[in-house]
Amino acid sequence: MGQAQCPICYSPLEVRDVTPCFVCGGWPESVARFGSAAVFTEFRLPSGRCLVLCRGCELEEFMVPGGWGYRLAPDEGRPVNALQRVRSVESSCLERDKFCPTCRLRLAFAVLVADNGRT
Ligand SMILES: [Zn+2]
Ligand SMILES: [Zn+2]
Repeated sequence: MGQAQCPICYSPLEVRDVTPCFVCGGWPESVARFGSAAVFTEFRLPSGRCLVLCRGCELEEFMVPGGWGYRLAPDEGRPVNALQRVRSVESSCLERDKFCPTCRLRLAFAVLVADNGRT
């Protein structure tokens, strides 16, 4: 991953330890809480792209108006309807990803949002 700037807002990215959740995975509070039997789910978008969400972000971002999910599924009244559940994800180790401190998103998710706007 050679990306140095956020594909949404072009802020410089930071490398962080992240949890599997694409949305809150880079937040220090999520990382601090990680490991206590958190449940993550992998979903597939209508575009065929996959993403991993924690239960909290599935609700907050894909069911509450204004969430990031509305950027991924603008045609859905409730973007959670566009998510196809693939599998549960069990993970006990943190990953590394780039993180945008302005959007407060992992690069993995920022790429999905940026790609979606383009098609
Ligand atoms: Zn999350
Ligand atoms: Zn950004």
